[in-house]
Amino acid sequence: MSIEDKWARSEAYLKNLFRKYYQENRVNPPSSIEKREFGFMFFGSQNMMRHLSFPDAESLQRFLAFRAPSNAFHSAAYYARPDAARMDEKIWEGCDLVFDIDADHLKTPCKEMHDKWACQSCGQSGVGGKPEKCPSCGGQNIDEKTWLCETCLETAKNELIKLVEDYLITDFGISMDEIRVVFSGHRGYHVHVTSDTLLDLDQNARREIIDYIKGVGLEPRYHGLVEVREERSKIIRGPRVDEEGWRGRLVKGVIETIQLMDESNIPQERKIKNTLRSLLKDKNRVEASLKEGIWDPVRGVGVEAWEYLVRLAVERVGGKIDEPVTADVRRLIRLPTSLHGKTGFKVCPVPLRELSSFDPFKHALAFKGDTTVHVEEAPRFRIGEEEFGPFKNEDVELPLPAAVLLLCKRAAYLK
Ligand SMILES: [Zn+2]
Ligand SMILES: [Zn+2]
Repeated sequence: MSIEDKWARSEAYLKNLFRKYYQENRVNPPSSIEKREFGFMFFGSQNMMRHLSFPDAESLQRFLAFRAPSNAFHSAAYYARPDAARMDEKIWEGCDLVFDIDADHLKTPCKEMHDKWACQSCGQSGVGGKPEKCPSCGGQNIDEKTWLCETCLETAKNELIKLVEDYLITDFGISMDEIRVVFSGHRGYHVHVTSDTLLDLDQNARREIIDYIKGVGLEPRYHGLVEVREERSKIIRGPRVDEEGWRGRLVKGVIETIQLMDESNIPQERKIKNTLRSLLKDKNRVEASLKEGIWDPVRGVGVEAWEYLVRLAVERVGGKIDEPVTADVRRLIRLPTSLHGKTGFKVCPVPLRELSSFDPFKHALAFKGDTTVHVEEAPRFRIGEEEFGPFKNEDVELPLPAAVLLLCKRAAYLK
């Protein structure tokens, strides 16, 4: 049997499983379903079928059970005519505020171990996240093989908790019942905010929100970091740790940055290297002083050095969100409770109170049973409480969620 035939058989098998899932499980439709555009992908094809709409949850469910798509999406936006073929004919009426936190955009060291890419034009390949352009030929047609790993997902979850608790709830005052968190089914999380007051924000307004969360363009002097003259000496005052918003966050970030800095990783910038060095001599005294808003714990450390540290701190503590997802008011986002075609995992809603205990390798599983597959290559991974692999060129009997994951990843094919 040729390799294409093997994939085709595996895909037919997956399609049947997905169909069964949609026959037996009700999906959660988005609010105002009749105003949403839907899009789907299917096994054996790379194309997206979009500009579809459904009058109610039942018709959506029938479609899913009948067509068994590999991936299902809906618009974050509301339209008067969601099924119009051209975007300008849909008549935009507003859009949920959505965020995407994905391991693709996080710097996790483990990616070098489990992700690979290959340029389709010249054959150049490498490990880690795929580059925007091929470093060898500049081509953009780059194939990637990514894996979802515990470290990546844990990092994404910590970013998610920060986004929800520190920014959305604390800084923006969005109420908890307007926030819905969803595990993406692959390497990250989505946040849907459905609130009348945010619906009609345009792209520029959403860009402002992104910039705030990332700390883009943040000027320390507008957050209270100033040099003031007091009698005959100059002193530096700055934000205190107990202040709200970015002020307190800045202090924490700068303290963290200093605490983690030592001779081995001190920035090599000539102008401030020695100044930074003097701060490292008594980190705890520096920390105590900054917390109180007194930013000259060490003689000779001027405002420029602090501004430099603030830049490092913003990079460390700023929110790590995928900008286009939030800024684009016409984008499609995965349908919660549908299945993800790259994993067979459920695009799984997570109650806010259960964020820290949510375990994607346990709570997002959609299938029960066992099956035997031929695994070409797979790293070690966990499903539920059990660990599997690593595998190389072998037949393995696996619980269905594990087998489906490998089939979806094209790391295995059906026996
Ligand atoms: Zn290339
Ligand atoms: Zn990882």
